[in-house]
Amino acid sequence: MVTLIKPLLVNITILFSFTFNGNLFFPFQTKQPLTLKQKLIYGFLGSFGALLCMFYPIETLGETHFDLRMVAIMIVTLYAGWLPGSIVLLSVVITRYLIGGQFILIGILVSILSFLIAFAFRRIFLNSRHKIITGTLIAFLYFYLYISILASAVIFLDTFFYMVYFAAFYITFIALIFVIENLFRINKQINEMMYMDKLTMIGQLAASIAHEIRNPLSTVRGFIQFLSQDSSDENLKKFSPLILEELDRTNSIITNYLKVSKPEQVQLSNVPLHEVIQDCVVLMRPFASYSNVVIDYDDKGPFYVQGDEQHLKQAVMNVIKNAIESIPEQGVVRILTLPDYFKNTVEVSIEDNGRGMTSEQLRNIGLPFYTTKTKGTGLGSMVTNKIIREMEGSIEYESTVGKGTAVKIVLPLLKSE
Ligand code: ADP
Ligand code: MG
Repeated sequence: MVTLIKPLLVNITILFSFTFNGNLFFPFQTKQPLTLKQKLIYGFLGSFGALLCMFYPIETLGETHFDLRMVAIMIVTLYAGWLPGSIVLLSVVITRYLIGGQFILIGILVSILSFLIAFAFRRIFLNSRHKIITGTLIAFLYFYLYISILASAVIFLDTFFYMVYFAAFYITFIALIFVIENLFRINKQINEMMYMDKLTMIGQLAASIAHEIRNPLSTVRGFIQFLSQDSSDENLKKFSPLILEELDRTNSIITNYLKVSKPEQVQLSNVPLHEVIQDCVVLMRPFASYSNVVIDYDDKGPFYVQGDEQHLKQAVMNVIKNAIESIPEQGVVRILTLPDYFKNTVEVSIEDNGRGMTSEQLRNIGLPFYTTKTKGTGLGSMVTNKIIREMEGSIEYESTVGKGTAVKIVLPLLKSE
């Protein structure tokens, strides 16, 4: 027993240290797909971890080698995908081959098996809400196959050793899942904090100058209007609408800006979400049909949420407007509401089949002044994010270039009336 504990601890420590180091290189994030560079780095880190595990085997009964390399293969494949997983697998297979001995084939076979199982259940695992339970099922399925192979191929069986080995395997595997899920959560909170910090910063900046600009602006606007009415100057008559339009645009930018900065008086009330969406759809229909877009809203109401009705309307409208603007020729914007009575939340999903966003765009959306449109302000998403956060909701963007975007707003539900 004592002789087992030392190499076991070494194996477990190696795996944990590599997990934390992976998170240091590239903080684990659920939101964005991994880039090739990240995949390669995770793959090499995983390989290094697995190889170190192999150099400190827990036990070598005869010529067998028991270590926790399969944990590395499975975790990397489950979380990072087939490419990093197969990098780890490949290095493990080569090393196991070089170590040699009677059981090369078995050693390689059980390694490949761990990769295949992790790969087969990857989607289910990533989509599941209870990762620990799904992880347990995956581990047990693997143990079953692993033990079957051992029983049929390796003659001797030390029951006590197997018990210790599989228990350690299971605990390490589940503990790693637990740690990684927590790292996801912590990273998300850090990002959120940084984003809120940015909003506060531009808020203070904005508040200090916006008012100063707004007043002279209205004076200028008034005089232009006045002059263009009385003047006989053709040029002035011709260009004054353009001047006014640009002035209005400037004004609306400032208004948006102030909305983010000023803790405006919010009117908290019980807001009928389904009616708010319906209103937005009616308001946006003319703009939509002008752009050859159909808005399809499947009203599953009533849903009541707590918040400021005008703000919520603004938030939903910004998202619908972006969806319409993303459609180059013609298309559909689909709005769905989906209650989750278990969590007591409602999800508003606004999907378009427009041009979609690259991962760079996804990273930047919601940052002040980030826009890809010639006439955009880059403030819409920021205002929306702020409003949804104030309602203690969350907002997420999922997008594929060329296919479209889904914006998912989740809000806490009030008891329906
Ligand atoms: P604006 O609409 O003024 O550009 P937003 O903050 O509303 O500012 O949006 C920022 C950017 O995010 C847009 O310029 C666009 O590139 C991208 N974007 C937002 N929504 C979508 C969408 N539904 N489809 C594709 N791109 C989008
Ligand atoms: Mg917009």
